[in-house]
Amino acid sequence: MRLILLGPPGAGKGTQALRLVAKHAIVQLSTGDMLRAAVAAGTEVGLRAKSIMDAGQLVPDDVVVAIIADRIGQADARRGFVLDGFPRTVPQAEALDRLLAARGLKLDGVIELKVDEGILINRIATRVEEMTARGEKLRADDNPDVLKGRLAAYRALTAPLADHYARKGMLKTVDGMAPMDDVTAAIDRILSPAGAAKGSAKAKPAAKKPSRSKAKPAKGRKAKVPAKGRAKKRAKASAGSKGHKSAQAKNKAGQRKSGTKRRLTKAR
Ligand code: AMP
Repeated sequence: MRLILLGPPGAGKGTQALRLVAKHAIVQLSTGDMLRAAVAAGTEVGLRAKSIMDAGQLVPDDVVVAIIADRIGQADARRGFVLDGFPRTVPQAEALDRLLAARGLKLDGVIELKVDEGILINRIATRVEEMTARGEKLRADDNPDVLKGRLAAYRALTAPLADHYARKGMLKTVDGMAPMDDVTAAIDRILSPAGAAKGSAKAKPAAKKPSRSKAKPAKGRKAKVPAKGRAKKRAKASAGSKGHKSAQAKNKAGQRKSGTKRRLTKAR
């Protein structure tokens, strides 16, 4: 399976890419990660890319295309890959089309994560505050001003890719602002044989608690509960409202907290 994840920085492409990797036994090809590795290793490419990346601008097309051309040819990419952060310009997309055609390979789909830019900017501001408070090291491009520049670059240079792939009939769109698991489920639906035939998949709203209304009697009638059952029910309810309920509430709050944190730290 060969996929492209499209979406601005902070849309959660990295998180979804990792889930696709685990599910489909493919590799994640993130040009951002590869460039950061080149910077850390002090290679020629890294030296060229560092200041551009720190400023939140795009590294020249020829540099990233060369990196991807080399990476796609490696043995572990043979089973398939998910491209995360590449292509980012129409010339990169055209170069990718040529690269794949030359190898007799084809893309299975392009999934675009649609997001609200204002919310992304607030998210990164919160993440920077939290990381600073914890004394953690920030990436040079981890600040709201650089993010605004990256979003502007996305709008001008990368967003047109949606049209490029829509014209080829390959674009599928997902609501990237939905909870992470819902986004994953929407992507799964797209990649299922039935979903592949449709144009887009809505991330499902968060699962509702099983409703009791089904078991409810019709209006105006009371449910018949045997006397013994009623006493048991009352005892259960009062025990539940103390221990179990408050533990559940705590648990829920914890889940919400860690869910947010996970999204803030991982989703780039
Ligand atoms: P990312 O981790 O994907 O957000 O990428 C981090 C930075 O690496 C970007 O802000 C760009 O400076 C650079 N970069 C990553 N992928 C590309 C690409 N396909 N084309 C140009 N620059 C890229």
